[in-house]
Amino acid sequence: MMFAESSVLMQFNLKPAVRMVRGRGSYLWDEQGRRYLDFVQGWAVNALGHSPQLVRDAVVAQLDAVLNPGPAYHNEPSHALAERLAALSGFDRVFLGGSGAEANEAAVKLARKWGQRNKAGAFEVITTLDGFHGRTIAMSNATGKPGFADACAPLIAGFPKVPYGDLHAVERAIGERTVAVMVEPIQGEAGAVTPPPGYLRGLRALCDRAGILLIVDEVQTGLARTGPLFAHQHEEVRPDLMTLGKSLGAGLPISALLAREEVACFALGDHGGTFAAHAVLSAAALAVVDHLSSAGHRALRTESASDLERALLDLAARHGAKLRGRGHLWGLVLPTRRAEQVRDRCFALGLLVNAARPDVLRLMPALDVAAEEIATMGELLDAALRV
Ligand SMILES: *Cc1c(COP(=O)(O)O)cnc(C)c1O
Repeated sequence: MMFAESSVLMQFNLKPAVRMVRGRGSYLWDEQGRRYLDFVQGWAVNALGHSPQLVRDAVVAQLDAVLNPGPAYHNEPSHALAERLAALSGFDRVFLGGSGAEANEAAVKLARKWGQRNKAGAFEVITTLDGFHGRTIAMSNATGKPGFADACAPLIAGFPKVPYGDLHAVERAIGERTVAVMVEPIQGEAGAVTPPPGYLRGLRALCDRAGILLIVDEVQTGLARTGPLFAHQHEEVRPDLMTLGKSLGAGLPISALLAREEVACFALGDHGGTFAAHAVLSAAALAVVDHLSSAGHRALRTESASDLERALLDLAARHGAKLRGRGHLWGLVLPTRRAEQVRDRCFALGLLVNAARPDVLRLMPALDVAAEEIATMGELLDAALRV
């Protein structure tokens, strides 16, 4: 594939040498008019596909009223969104930020404050190897990819790592300085790594026994990506803190930290943000959340998810691959390390997929991806894997 560098805009990954100019639903078009079937969708962000009408309507209506009065004044949509998220999740208090990393920073900051008050200054947050939590300096250190934080050395203390899915390792790692455990219910960036059944329930029990907090990073899994509105609902556990991002704005940058009342110990002045609780972004997210939490959408995505799983199982069987993941978040583990080659071949055929690891393709389409689109993906990916 041809890759293009820009001389002015900083580049952090190699991108194909085309510019995307239009998007609708599951399709993107480049400036040459070539069409691509998109199973990356803004990096598991565009839950409702490209440029959904519902987001457009919410943005335009709020923009006509006021874009954003700013952090010094209340605005209506941010209160409505916070109340809706609390009602749907069972959490009590909400902070609205702009990115997943920002929500996770807020979660760790809140946990550390809670530790100062309740755990004699305990501040360590146990995270997992291969986990991903964002790219700020602290979240680069919380992230479990080896070497990930080296570019912003010195390393920040307070994020001991354990293997994902291993409860004994967490039990051993908990000490006097531990204030919380932070995990993804499914590791997204690692390529849809699914833990053994009972993992979250086991973590909840360990945290209860040690009197520490359970933080679930649902930036990727949250808002119906894995089926239920929140992935921790698969195991019916009650975390202390949860973060959301990606799907929340269906393409617009908004994130959330949700906290139980007993943990929500931020005082005036402890936290905030110039764009926190943004009016236009909140209005869009409210429309998205209302849509995703409707019975109609749940039925539609359940059917779409089972079509998708069937198509991927079929591909896995035909090409000696293994399938992992759930809902609309899947990793196809290839028998050889050729995921980037297959991704590039898919691109040439007009299909967008992600190479999450040298041997793992990740698929994260819109939650309402249609049966015909799934069938087309199956044919194109089959052709790409055949070569
Ligand atoms: C994408 C992601 C983040 C970071 O979100 P940004 O919006 O890129 O800051 C954090 N945690 C998880 C699980 C993610 O998938």
